[in-house]
Amino acid sequence: MVPCDLCKSLLGRPGYVPPHPRLTRTGDAVARTGGQVFLYTCQRCRQVIALSPTADGADYWTGHDGSVS
Ligand SMILES: [Zn+2]
Repeated sequence: MVPCDLCKSLLGRPGYVPPHPRLTRTGDAVARTGGQVFLYTCQRCRQVIALSPTADGADYWTGHDGSVS
């Protein structure tokens, strides 16, 4: 699945960047670090994007598996 430009521009960005307009909140998960992960699904490309805490405590936009690609 190839992320659309809106998703690509969000991946790897810090958590203070707001979700783009086509993202819908679709669930929660627990990160490997034990923190809360917020899952969003893009209505344009169907990509699942996660707002995940990293080990240093900052939130980042990642793919649903924690990758940024
Ligand atoms: Zn997208």
